[in-house]
Amino acid sequence: MLRIWVLAATWLVATIAIGLSAGLAVGRPWLGLCLALSLHLAWQLTRLYRLDHWLRHRGFMDPPVLRGVWDDVVTQIARIHRRKRHHKQRLATVLRELRESTNAMPDGVVALNAHGEIAWFNRMAAQLLHLQGRRDIGIRISNLVRQPAFARHLEGGDGTAPLTLQVSAQPETWLSLHVLPYGEGRRLLLIRDVTRQTRLETMRKDFVANASHELRSPLTVISGYLEMLATDPTLDAAHAQPLAEMRRQADRMAAIIGDLLVLSRLEAKDEQPEGEPVDVGAMLALLRKDVLARPQHPALVTLAIETQDQLKGDELELNSALANLVDNAAKYTPADGHIGIRWWSDAEGAHCSVTDTGPGIPSSAIPRLTERFYRVDAGRSRATGGSGLGLAIVKHVLQRHGGRLEIASTEGRGSTFTCHFPPERVLAAERRA
Ligand code: ADP
Repeated sequence: MLRIWVLAATWLVATIAIGLSAGLAVGRPWLGLCLALSLHLAWQLTRLYRLDHWLRHRGFMDPPVLRGVWDDVVTQIARIHRRKRHHKQRLATVLRELRESTNAMPDGVVALNAHGEIAWFNRMAAQLLHLQGRRDIGIRISNLVRQPAFARHLEGGDGTAPLTLQVSAQPETWLSLHVLPYGEGRRLLLIRDVTRQTRLETMRKDFVANASHELRSPLTVISGYLEMLATDPTLDAAHAQPLAEMRRQADRMAAIIGDLLVLSRLEAKDEQPEGEPVDVGAMLALLRKDVLARPQHPALVTLAIETQDQLKGDELELNSALANLVDNAAKYTPADGHIGIRWWSDAEGAHCSVTDTGPGIPSSAIPRLTERFYRVDAGRSRATGGSGLGLAIVKHVLQRHGGRLEIASTEGRGSTFTCHFPPERVLAAERRA
């Protein structure tokens, strides 16, 4: 490279020398120098012009052959240009492959910018949301999916749980929409068609609800006759024992059917309960009384109401959840045991715990306790008349109130079931006053 610049400098010096000597020969050295430099400049300008012309049309022109330092510049520009074209082609290939692979995905994907506007979407998303290429890019997604639940989910979506929405009634279409935040305020919307699963789930729920409903009437008749027979003074003493067992089993069936209906009703409601103020303290006091009124109950049932705060929710649902917890504690705690019920609130919300000194639960069973019909000890549960649905109801009710159930237990020592409710569900005592 240095050699070229030395050559260019030599050319300039030679031009100056030739110009000056030619000028001196005619007695006008400066004129000679000016003419020589002008010629040099003109030569350079023609190179510059040819370089500029090539740069403007380089897409379809070969590089020009310029002499000296210009050739070096052209070679370097051509190299940079080649490299850039290569990168561009590689990028285009990667982009094409990315587009092809996302188009092959069975799920819809929509990339949203920080304003919730569509930046990009794949073929499945176009199909599921009826999006169209250029028309919908830059449009706010909430203008296309006009459902309040979706708008709420989009604002509050933290990527933890998808939202299932019915987007059309004819043909019936259900979509699962999952918002995943990424980058700075950007979000990825994953869309899946869950129409089939939702229909099956609805059929399952309807079936359970209808079957439970249909079973209730014949069972009421059977229970009625059993009760009548049990009180019949002419009844043979040998039949008393089987009759008592039949009544016990009929009561169990009634309890199972009752709980199935409660669960069906809970599942049928989509929206969270609005929130009438519920005096949980008073409710717990009544539940304690109920336990003490049982013919057999643990010796000590204590109640600690540490707050006058109330809870915004559905009174019947909350009562059924808390009654289930207190009922379990009473069922599984021996006569010399202790049940402690507590209601308190703090910055994290309101909490209600039921502690017992019963048999406890093995830690491996704890995660499965809220499954329907799951029993740690089937024999013990049947003996106590349990339906196996109580904790499933508790979990469902808490979920509908934005809360959660925490279970802590040590085998042989007892268990604590704690319901946690979020602060937005708490109606502080001072605000009510
Ligand atoms: P069940 O009607 O059988 O009590 P639940 O759903 O209420 O059904 O409870 C599920 C299982 O969890 C019970 O069968 C029992 O084995 C266990 N369980 C629930 N509460 C307690 C408790 N306080 N102490 C010990 N085991 C419990």
